Order: sequence, then C-alpha cells, then structure tokens
Amino acid sequence: MKIGILDIQGSVEEHFAALQKIKNVEPVLVKNKKDLDQVKGLIMPGGESTTIGKLLRRFGLREEIIKRAKAGMPVWGTCAGAILLAKKIVGTQTADGLKLMDIAIERNAYGRQVDSFETQIEFDLGTYGGDYFGKVVPAIFIRAPKILAVGKKVQILAKHRGEIVAARQGNLMASSFHPELTDSKEIHEYFVKMCG
Ligand code: GLN
Repeated sequence: MKIGILDIQGSVEEHFAALQKIKNVEPVLVKNKKDLDQVKGLIMPGGESTTIGKLLRRFGLREEIIKRAKAGMPVWGTCAGAILLAKKIVGTQTADGLKLMDIAIERNAYGRQVDSFETQIEFDLGTYGGDYFGKVVPAIFIRAPKILAVGKKVQILAKHRGEIVAARQGNLMASSFHPELTDSKEIHEYFVKMCG
C-alpha cells in the first residue's frame, strides 16, 4: 500500500523511515498532484505551518488535498500538519490552513524551542480500534500546538496533563507531537490501518 508524506518542509525523512518499517507499506514523497494521485493516505509532517501552508498553494496541492480528504482519503497531521488540518487556528501569524477538521488549535502554545520536551502518553483509540486501547507511546513535543477544543464529531485519542494532544474525526487525525522522532511505530501502524 502506498502512503504519502507531504514533501514540502519539516520532518519528512523521519516519517518516511517510520513507514518503511511497516510491512506492506511503500512510502511515497508527495510534491505534486501526480504523486498524490498514487497514494491511499497522506501524512502532513511537522515543520513550520506558515511555510508549508504557503507552499501548498504554490505546489498546486492545496485544493487537491482538500478534495481527496473530503472524499475520504485518510490524512494525518503531526504538529504543523495538525495546525494545517484545523478549522480554527489561534495565535499570531495564523497559517493558511486547509480548514478540514473540526478542532481549534493554538500555535506554539507549549512555549519556545527550549521548552520542547519528551514524554509518554497513553493512547485511547477506543471506538476506532480496540486493540490499541491503553497503548503507551513516547511523544516528542517541539514548539507544539495545543488542541484547545474539538467538535462533536471528533474523538479525543490522547491527552497529556489534561490537554488534548491527539484527535480523530473519521478519516482525519491530528497529533500535536512527533511520533516519527521516536522508535515507536504504533501510531504509524494505526494510521496505516486507517488507510485500509
Ligand atoms: N511551531 C510550528 C508552527 O506553528 C509547529 C512546530 C512543529 O511542527 N514541530 O508551525
């Protein structure tokens, strides 16, 4: 199964390497519509959401991703990618997002680069995948955003210190941290399952 990684900026190679470790998955770098047409799902990596948002338009990918996501293609946004998925972005210099997922997210809400941290979080993938219930995974937060609120159709997948750090709305998943920077591949495997 081909799974795409948006290849504009950010932790592209790390997601690529994580997907390579999963059986029957062929990671594909997505830079244009032709690449996107080949894949069953798309990961939007962390990086800098303003930059990625601008380049999405320039690369002619913005409308294509919106169209595919609305037609059911699984999309997982990590960190900056999660910001780009959100319907509502809070904070300064808000990015030019795709406005797909019913979440409100605040950029850089955990502080600056020096406030980056690594922790363990418990994933509750409850209604979406019983065997993932209670999985504990390492998570790295780098100038991470906070998911402040979620809509009725959004399921919270994980919290850290009472704050939402991962959520899913049908084919869309957002996480404010970077699983691709750790050795754990649970969340990548979970996304692969979403892609079916
Ligand atoms: N702070 C970045 C932004 O607002 C996101 C950081 C990240 O992706 N690690 O775009």
